[in-house]
Amino acid sequence: MAPRDPAQVLHQVFGYEDFRGDQREIVEHVSGGGDALVLMPTGGGKSLCYQIPALVRDGTGVVISPLIALMQDQVDALRALGVRAGFLNSTQGPQERRDTERAFLDGELDLLYLAPERLRVASTADLLDRGRIALFAIDEAHCVSQWGHDFRPDYLALSELHRRWPDVPRIALTATATRATHTEIAERLDLTDARHFVASFDRPNIQYRIVPKAEERRQLLELLRAEHAGDAGIVYCLSRRKVEQVAEFLTAQGITALPYHAGLEAPVRAANQARFLREDGVVMVATIAFGMGIDKPDVRFVAHLDLPKSVEGYYQETGRAGRDGLPSTAWLAYGLGDVVQQRKMIDESEGDLAHRRRLTQHLDAMLALCETVECRRVNLLAYFGQAGEPCGNCDTCLTPPQTWDGTVAAQKVLSTVWRLKKERNQSFGAGHVVDILLGKQSPKISQHRHDELSVFGVGSDLRDSEWRAVIRQLLARELLAVGGAYQTLALTETSGEVLRGERTVALRRDPERAARASRSRSA
Ligand code: ADP
Ligand code: ZN
Repeated sequence: MAPRDPAQVLHQVFGYEDFRGDQREIVEHVSGGGDALVLMPTGGGKSLCYQIPALVRDGTGVVISPLIALMQDQVDALRALGVRAGFLNSTQGPQERRDTERAFLDGELDLLYLAPERLRVASTADLLDRGRIALFAIDEAHCVSQWGHDFRPDYLALSELHRRWPDVPRIALTATATRATHTEIAERLDLTDARHFVASFDRPNIQYRIVPKAEERRQLLELLRAEHAGDAGIVYCLSRRKVEQVAEFLTAQGITALPYHAGLEAPVRAANQARFLREDGVVMVATIAFGMGIDKPDVRFVAHLDLPKSVEGYYQETGRAGRDGLPSTAWLAYGLGDVVQQRKMIDESEGDLAHRRRLTQHLDAMLALCETVECRRVNLLAYFGQAGEPCGNCDTCLTPPQTWDGTVAAQKVLSTVWRLKKERNQSFGAGHVVDILLGKQSPKISQHRHDELSVFGVGSDLRDSEWRAVIRQLLARELLAVGGAYQTLALTETSGEVLRGERTVALRRDPERAARASRSRSA
């Protein structure tokens, strides 16, 4: 087969117009026989970095990947593009394995996916010796790091590749690497002389802001009028109903806003999307069903009226702003109700305990980003294993939030929840607990004679919105739990530490602006 041009392969085989980011350089470097270590965020397009060189060079590209469960899918997807691909792993029967080996030896494979443990088997090395190898691609290269969360002993053996096949170029790829892991990967895989391509996860032109939710629509409108009049943007909401309502609200305020969610008729969805792409200054109000594959360079803001489920989701959605590199805003309004709602959704989600635990971890990372008093960008990059300096272009950098000693306040909340359970065998939602703390007289209070509780009215030093902020932060840190059909509050394993005074609780003081908004609402 005549050597092919990488750009031609990109067009003809994969059907893409242009390379993305460092792809061109990486592909040319590896196609020319160079070694590479590639750090690129998920979705950055790592696969093409080895797939194209494998097609350009003579022989078979051998891909070492621990993701055995995905191999079949990856191979199927490649075959659909006309690429000759196969895999060898433990899920196969002997006949299938023999067929794949034969195809490799006959030079009829462009790509061969290998589970790392296959390399421990002497026959695999012999097989590779008898065929022609275009390159080695080591996917999920962080698995070689003993300090990482994903260490696989089989990966240590990969340093042998270079010794045994010194002339075959190697490309190692990963999406998660702290600086320390990065160095460790290079050393362990003997890639210190390789060219390193490190894509940053940072989007410096995006200003990250997370504000306490008071009156979300009014807050959104203020943002649009004050900073983004006439700009194109996306407003994300959790539910279809809310999408419709917010789109109507913005339209009534004279803003060109369109709804987008999976419940709309396909032609309506297509028309709205086309208008968003073609016209200037359209605001798309959407569920997360919108955005995948949307490549509009001048989206000036992405606003979230509901809390994303994970930092990955948040990063992906906000990443749709400012692809042209011009200043853009990522704005999220977040409140107690969001925490309650998300915890409830996890409670009610299908799937096993491990699944729910994973969802909880994702949510906790998102909540930590919301409640941080440090640079949002540093927090966000740290999540992806990248170090950063305070950016000067996020809300916490621009107006550093203050903290206060919320230990006593936390104790008041927790002991109210504890007393309700202990003395009355009852549990209530956040709103009622705040009423008890404030000493409010309401029908529900007198019905349950909660004004007789010793904690009734012990919280008159804080306002309603401040108590909600305290509860929100306790929930975010799992010092308090919410659950059940009525989203009632309950203590957690760690609540006791606060109640017994073994643990202090530093809380974020919400910015003045939000406090003012909620005061004017209650006025
Ligand atoms: P990663 O492995 O880094 O997570 P993938 O290789 O799976 O990323 O690529 C993510 C998505 O981007 C895929 O849908 C892929 O087809 C697409 N993609 C990658 N490179 C390009 C490109 N140059 N042009 C258009 N789409 C691309
Ligand atoms: Zn910052």
